[in-house]
Amino acid sequence: MRFEELNSTRGRHGSPANGKSVRGKSAFHLMPPRNQQTLAHPALVTGAGYWSGRDVRVELHPAPIDSGVTFIRTDLAKPARIPAHVSHRIETPRRTVLKHQGATVEMVEHVMAALAALRVDNCEIRVDQPELPGCDGSSLAYVEAIDAAGIAKQAAAKAQLVVREVVRVGDDNAWIEASPPSHQGLSFKYHLDYGQDNAIGRQTLSLDVTPDVFRQELASSRTFLLKSEADWLRSQGLASKATVKDLLIFGDEGPIDNELRFPDECVRHKALDLIGDLALGGYDLVGHFVAHKTGHRLNAELLRVLLQEGEVVGHRRRTA
Ligand SMILES: [Zn+2]
Repeated sequence: MRFEELNSTRGRHGSPANGKSVRGKSAFHLMPPRNQQTLAHPALVTGAGYWSGRDVRVELHPAPIDSGVTFIRTDLAKPARIPAHVSHRIETPRRTVLKHQGATVEMVEHVMAALAALRVDNCEIRVDQPELPGCDGSSLAYVEAIDAAGIAKQAAAKAQLVVREVVRVGDDNAWIEASPPSHQGLSFKYHLDYGQDNAIGRQTLSLDVTPDVFRQELASSRTFLLKSEADWLRSQGLASKATVKDLLIFGDEGPIDNELRFPDECVRHKALDLIGDLALGGYDLVGHFVAHKTGHRLNAELLRVLLQEGEVVGHRRRTA
């Protein structure tokens, strides 16, 4: 009897491929889901919207178990609730926009990245404009506000979405692939390729995403544009109030009137965006992601496939 128990335990933990996937199936042992979390106190972030130039006030509030992240447009006559889920995402260039029952909220990816990476699962985000503020182009203001408010554990498990088969979307130019995990949590490798004839060039970054890795390595990396892209946006009357101090605008020699926070800040920001986009599934993702020149659209397309094909573990299971 002891032998049977021992064998079954070894069977579950057995990892003959040293964590490598075997015929697309993961050979690692999945940890039990962690507890859900929310904010201990409300948090406040203010700033100007990139697209409108208007002042925006964002309040992050604690929210109940299983409620997820919800945006609330408080400026509308009847405040609209917009769940932060990929099923409400509408295609818009250069940012992530959610729409529910006629109400929209724009530029949600940087607050979503901060909440997901710091594992704040349930949160009400009250915003008094149609877009979140650009701040300095990164997630830093959100991380600082969340850390100042504190994070509180809740008495329910956070469901995991585990990648069990290789899934790839995109084409030869730009693609993203999810593979079964070799260890707990979400890991990624991102290739950024702007070609050789500009100051951004090629950058690659590999990381395991944890709250501290996000705080130290990704949160402060900023949105970037080539000057030609910024000029085009302005010619369309867009983002006219955003300056070279509000994000990175690259000329031939590097960022204009600005200093890089990391030599490879651009690829770090692409990784931040990826984390924010993948947060729109509402699960802890367990898998390895390899991305080549992807953006918001492909990230969302991959997530939709994973929501169909991935394995959900710990859904709504109460732990206390
Ligand atoms: Zn971004």
